[in-house]
Amino acid sequence: MLETGFKLLSSSNLPTLASQSSRITEFTMASRNTVLMRLVASAYSVAQKAGMIVRRVIAEGDLGIVEKTCATDLQTKADRLVQMSICSSLARKFPKLTIIGEELVVWVDPLDGTKEYTEGLLDNVTVLIGIAYEGKAIAGIINQPYYNYEAGPDAVLGRTIWGVLGLGAFGFQLKEVPAGKHIITTTRSHSNKLVTDCVTAMNPDVVLRVGGAGNKIIQLIEGKASAYVFASPGCKKWDTCAPEVILHAVGGKLTDIHGNVLQYHKDVKHLNSAGVLATLRNYDYYASRVPESVKNALVP
Ligand code: AMP
Ligand code: MG
Ligand code: MG
Repeated sequence: MLETGFKLLSSSNLPTLASQSSRITEFTMASRNTVLMRLVASAYSVAQKAGMIVRRVIAEGDLGIVEKTCATDLQTKADRLVQMSICSSLARKFPKLTIIGEELVVWVDPLDGTKEYTEGLLDNVTVLIGIAYEGKAIAGIINQPYYNYEAGPDAVLGRTIWGVLGLGAFGFQLKEVPAGKHIITTTRSHSNKLVTDCVTAMNPDVVLRVGGAGNKIIQLIEGKASAYVFASPGCKKWDTCAPEVILHAVGGKLTDIHGNVLQYHKDVKHLNSAGVLATLRNYDYYASRVPESVKNALVP
């Protein structure tokens, strides 16, 4: 069943298509692998279309910004249009997914890095579609609409990265940070004392402050950062599901700040209340440096 976290359309014949946390559940276990591969293929193409919408909204010049909870928690016309596009496409292609079940859940973030999108930091922005089976993130698609945007007027904009656990991740070149270098990537627009305490405890050589959970996972798999450290609530299941799969598919690890594996079943709470710790390599080093004071402040 598609469920609604908040409505974007007040009088719509698609009342269930409006959640940033849109979750689609599938009943038939027997066909799960076929359904999964069809879903991944469809999600890949809807993510590419989403990237075009994200670029079109910027090109048209009216971002239609509204504040959700505060000035750093924004929504734009692109968030709304992409949400509708992804959810209506998937619902059309998978009508049976409206059957209530426990098994397959799709987590959609139509625009990750909205704050940065409104400020023109366009390569921070991604569209995230994550697929979970029995609570475990197993497939993910990340579209980065403005990949290449600083490469000149003739560059082809955008790319789609995808992955399935056990199969691998594709659409990028895997690269590692030079050995022994601790490059920490963290939030740019949702920082606080806990976040900075935890980052400092990592003994970083470099700290990168960028927008988007998807963007930060791309930094990990492309050798730009060693660890994504976010010791604060705020990040949601739709922010981590797809990125987590891409990272796990290439041997990395994403957990909360205590080291707990994240759950993605349909009734799980949306908030990653105990933050995020993710690395491509050397997870144990970064996990061992999280201060007890930070752990005590963040309840899973
Ligand atoms: P950031 O690294 O700040 O871009 O955050 C990654 C994702 O988590 C984005 O989708 C943010 O919107 C979300 N997020 C993190 N912290 C907060 C917060 N305090 N309030 C709302 N959203 C947040
Ligand atoms: Mg997001
Ligand atoms: Mg978002």
